[in-house]
Amino acid sequence: AERACARLTDKEFAAEQFILREPSSAKHTNGRVLIIAGSQSTESSMLGAAILAARGALKTGAGYVAISMPLALAGAMHTALPEVVVIGRDMDSIAEKARWADAILVGCGIGRDRDAIELLGKLLESDALTAKKLILDADALYALSVIGTESLLNLSGEVLLTPHYGELSRLCGLSAEEIARNPIETAKAVATSFGVNLLLKGSPTVIANPEGSVLVNTSGTEALATAGTGDLLAGIIAALAAKGADLFNAAAAGAWFHGRAGDLAGDIASLVSAGMVADAIQLAIGEIFEL
Ligand code: AMP
Ligand code: MG
Repeated sequence: AERACARLTDKEFAAEQFILREPSSAKHTNGRVLIIAGSQSTESSMLGAAILAARGALKTGAGYVAISMPLALAGAMHTALPEVVVIGRDMDSIAEKARWADAILVGCGIGRDRDAIELLGKLLESDALTAKKLILDADALYALSVIGTESLLNLSGEVLLTPHYGELSRLCGLSAEEIARNPIETAKAVATSFGVNLLLKGSPTVIANPEGSVLVNTSGTEALATAGTGDLLAGIIAALAAKGADLFNAAAAGAWFHGRAGDLAGDIASLVSAGMVADAIQLAIGEIFEL
């Protein structure tokens, strides 16, 4: 019964949040996105998450995407995606680009080591975030669970957290099973108590804002249940927000576009192979914007 009365996303809603480029626009006015993503250590390298997030943002029409990552990864990043600017992982470079950006996405593949946790802690204290739209995904949510969600209360701009059930469980103390039993009520309760926008990813995906408004996403299937799709979604949302949508609307519209693109890519993939890979979704994104 509760599900029946929640508001649903649809094509018209999503299209309204997709702000078109003005004929007189330039790259700097079409949405500047800073993405802090990717990592390299002696144990592992996570570059793919950064590439997928940046592609999601570019394919959604962001005019300019800068990405902060260990500079050792810059060459490989540029080979995959020559359109992005790569900056280092030091706080000076990050603060400068954060002041420039319209929206900032942190977390895809930054790792869970002490450096990643310290980086998020310093960023949340930085005045470079003043009045900025901030999206925390993936490993940034892990870091946030270590630092504590009180650190979000001092921020003057909009904040969006984009956890799946496991990531939310670490943040709010409920088990993933408890969250799965009642995702709508959980998303609403967490968004209002943390004072943030929340995109709770799953089936269905639920979007809540700090005032307790809730939207339930209607697109997407289990074709999306594959590695990397969440990173692409985070980039899509960052671009919608950088272009002007507020973070609640950007999250809900982003989830709809991502799900719809996944539906298309999944249909094509099922004709040729058993599975869809995350990278295939970005090919379908352009189709979706031809609304
Ligand atoms: P992540 O867990 O961060 O990789 O994100 C996975 C993405 O795939 C999210 O957008 C989920 O909503 C979506 N997803 C995963 N499993 C399903 C499913 N069974 N049905 C619909 N969407 C799903
Ligand atoms: Mg993820």
